[in-house]
Amino acid sequence: MSILVFIEHEGNKIKKSSLETALYGAAIAQQEGSTAQAVVLGDIDAAQAATLGKYGISKVWQVGGNFSDLDANRHSRAVSEVAQQCGATTIVFSHNYTGKAVAPRVAARLKAGLVSGIATLPKADGIVCKSSFSGKAFADYRVLSPIRILSLTPNSMPVKPTSDNSAAVETVQVNVPVAQVKVKQVVKLSDKIPLTEAEIVVSGGRGLKGPENWGMIEEMANILGAATACSRPVADTHWRPHHEHVGQTGIAISPNLYIAIGISGAIQHLAGVSGSKVIVVINKDAEAPFFKAADYGVIGDAFEVVPRLNEALKKFKASHA
Ligand SMILES: Cc1cc2nc3c(=O)[nH]c(=O)nc-3n(C[C@H](O)[C@H](O)[C@H](O)COP(=O)(O)OP(=O)(O)OC[C@H]3O[C@@H](n4cnc5c(N)ncnc54)[C@H](O)[C@@H]3O)c2cc1C
Repeated sequence: MSILVFIEHEGNKIKKSSLETALYGAAIAQQEGSTAQAVVLGDIDAAQAATLGKYGISKVWQVGGNFSDLDANRHSRAVSEVAQQCGATTIVFSHNYTGKAVAPRVAARLKAGLVSGIATLPKADGIVCKSSFSGKAFADYRVLSPIRILSLTPNSMPVKPTSDNSAAVETVQVNVPVAQVKVKQVVKLSDKIPLTEAEIVVSGGRGLKGPENWGMIEEMANILGAATACSRPVADTHWRPHHEHVGQTGIAISPNLYIAIGISGAIQHLAGVSGSKVIVVINKDAEAPFFKAADYGVIGDAFEVVPRLNEALKKFKASHA
C-alpha cells in the first residue's frame, strides 16, 4: 500500500491546499502503516519540494518541464504514470479547480474508484464518509477497485508542520503529449484571497439593498483577512461579480468562519456554505431561516451592526498587534 499526493505550486511556493492534502495523505499512511509520497509537476526548486517532508511526505516525485498550460489531460497522464511507477494504491487530490479537473481523468485512466469532496479520514475499514444531497445527509463509500482516488475539501485540515523532516526528491521522466491548451498570459485580477481557499469569508445578501453598501463588507473582510462572497440574487443583479456567488448553483465553500450578512438562508444558499466550520448570521429578521444553521447570530440591522462590529474588530486587532 502506498499513498501518492498531488501537489500544486505557484511561484515556487507550494499551495496551502496541497499542504493540507500532504497532511491528509500522511494521516492515511499512518493509519495503514504505509508511507505518503507526492507528485509535483513542473519547475519547482528541489529544496522547496523537500519541505513537504515537514508535512509527512517521505518522497517527492518531480516531473520537470512546463506544466503551466492547465491542460488537465497532460496533468492526468503525468500523475497516472507516476502513480503506476510508484505503485500507489491511494491517490489524494485537493477538491479544488485543478483537482476537480484532473482527479476524474486519473480515475478513468487507472480504472480507480473516486470519492470526491471528502472532509474526514477514511474509517479503519477503509470506508469513506462524505456529505451528500447538498449537505443534508452523509453517505458511506467503499471503493472496490485496487486503486482509490480521494479528493479533500479545502480547509478540512489545520495546516501545521508535523516534523522537521526533509523529503527525498527524485526527478522522474514521463511520456506526456504536447499541450492542447496554450496559455498566452496569466493576469491576476486582484490580490484578493481566492474564495475557495479563504479561511474566513464575509458574505452579503439582498438585505444590503445595493452595491453602494458593500464598503462595510469589504472593510470587515480587510480587517479579518477574509474573502468576500454573496448570495445569488446579488450576483444576478450585478451588485457583485458572479465569481463571488456561493451556493448550490455557485461555488461551494468550507471556510473556518462564514459571516452571512443580510442573507435569508434559503436552502440553495446553505447548500454551498453548510460545510463552514463556524457560521455567524447577521439579519434583522429573527425568523430568518439562516439562524437555524448559525453557530452565532445577531438579530439587528446590518447598517447598525456591521459598522460597530468593524470598529470593535479594529480595536481588538490593535490591542493584540
Ligand atoms: C435552482 C435554484 C438555485 C439557486 N441557487 C442559489 C445559490 O447558489 N446561492 C444563493 O444564494 N441562492 C440561490 N438560489 C436563490 C435562493 O433560493 C434565494 O432566493 C437566495 O439565496 C436569497 O438571497 P438573499 O438571502 O440575499 O435575499 P432575500 O431572500 O431577499 O433575503 C434578504 C435577507 O436580508 C434580511 N435583511 C433585509 N434588510 C436587512 C438589514 N438592513 N439588515 C440585516 N438583514 C436584513 C432579510 O430579513 C432577509 O432575510 C437558487 C434558487 C433556485 C431556484
